Amino acid sequence: MTKRVPISFEFFPPKTDVGAEKLRIVHAELQKLNPEFFSITYGAGGSTRERTLAAISDFNGKGTPVAPHLSCIGDDKARIAELLDLYKAQGIDRIVALRGDLPSGQVGLGELPYAQDLVRFIREHSGEHFQIEVAAYPEMHPQSDTFDADIKHFIEKVQAGANAAITQFFFNPDAYFYFVERIQKAGIDIPVTPGIMPITNASNLIRFADGTGAEIPRWIRKQLAAYGDDVESIKAFGHEVVINLCERLITGGAPSLHLYSMNQVEPNRQLVLDLGLA
Ligand code: FAD
Repeated sequence: MTKRVPISFEFFPPKTDVGAEKLRIVHAELQKLNPEFFSITYGAGGSTRERTLAAISDFNGKGTPVAPHLSCIGDDKARIAELLDLYKAQGIDRIVALRGDLPSGQVGLGELPYAQDLVRFIREHSGEHFQIEVAAYPEMHPQSDTFDADIKHFIEKVQAGANAAITQFFFNPDAYFYFVERIQKAGIDIPVTPGIMPITNASNLIRFADGTGAEIPRWIRKQLAAYGDDVESIKAFGHEVVINLCERLITGGAPSLHLYSMNQVEPNRQLVLDLGLA
C-alpha cells in the first residue's frame, strides 16, 4: 500500500458565471477528499486579478485553506502590496509566488522581474506571515540556458525566503529525484511537492507540455497517438501512467502531491481514491 501523503489541488479562475458555478461544485466534491489546500492561479501582469480574487472569496473560509498564486512580472510593488494586505486581512497564510509569463506583445518586466524578487518583497512587506511556495522545474525551466543556472536561481529563491516548492508537471520520476538530490547537496532541505498532471486528453496534454517545457516520454506519446479518438482508452491508460508515477514518487520520498485539477472532479478524485490518499 502507498504511504499516505497530503494532497492539494490547483484551480484556475473561471471566466464566466457558469464556470464559477461549476467550480463551486468541483470544489465541494474535491473538498470531500480532505486536501491540505486549494491553490488558485493568477495571470501574469494582473490579467486575472479580479477573477482570482472572486474565486478566492468564493472558497476562503469554507473548510479547506486557499492559497492564492501571485505573479510579479509586469506588475508593480504597490499593487502586489495591496494584494498581500488583503490576503492577510482575509486570514490567508499561504501564497504561491511566481514570476509569471508576460503575454506576447507586452513589454516591461516591472519592478520585480524574477520570482526571487517577489519572495524577497513578500518577506520585506509581510514578514513571516505567509508560507511561501515557489515553482520548481525538475526538467529545467524552458528559458534557462543550463540546468546548473536554473538550480542556482532556484536556490536563490529559497534563500530569499521561500518555505516550499511545487514542481512543473513531469512524467519521469528520476528527473524529480535528481532535482531534489541536487538541491539537498547544496544544503536546501525545503519540501518539494511534485505537480501532477492527470492525462485525459492527448492534444491538451501535448499543448500544455509544449508551453511549459515538460517532456512527454516517447512511449506515452506513441501510446496516446495509437488510441486516436478512443477517449476511454486514453483515460484508462492515462490513469495507469499517473498512478504508477505517483506511487514511485511517494515511495521515493515525495512529501505530498499537488494536482493540476483543470477545474475537474474526475480524474482527480479517482487518482486520490486509488492511491488511498483521501
Ligand atoms: P523564476 O524563478 O523567476 O525563474 C524564471 C526563469 O528565470 C528561470 O529560467 C530561472 O532560471 C531564471 N532566473 C531566475 N532568477 C534569475 C536571475 N536573478 N537572473 C537571471 N535569471 C534568473 N504562471 C502564472 O502566470 N500564473 C500562475 O498562477 C502560475 N502558477 C504556476 C504554478 C506552478 C506550480 C508552476 C510550476 C508554474 C506556474 N506558473 C504560473 C508558470 C510560471 O510563472 C512560469 O513557469 C514562469 O516562466 C517562471 O516562473 P518562476 O516563478 O519559476 O520564475
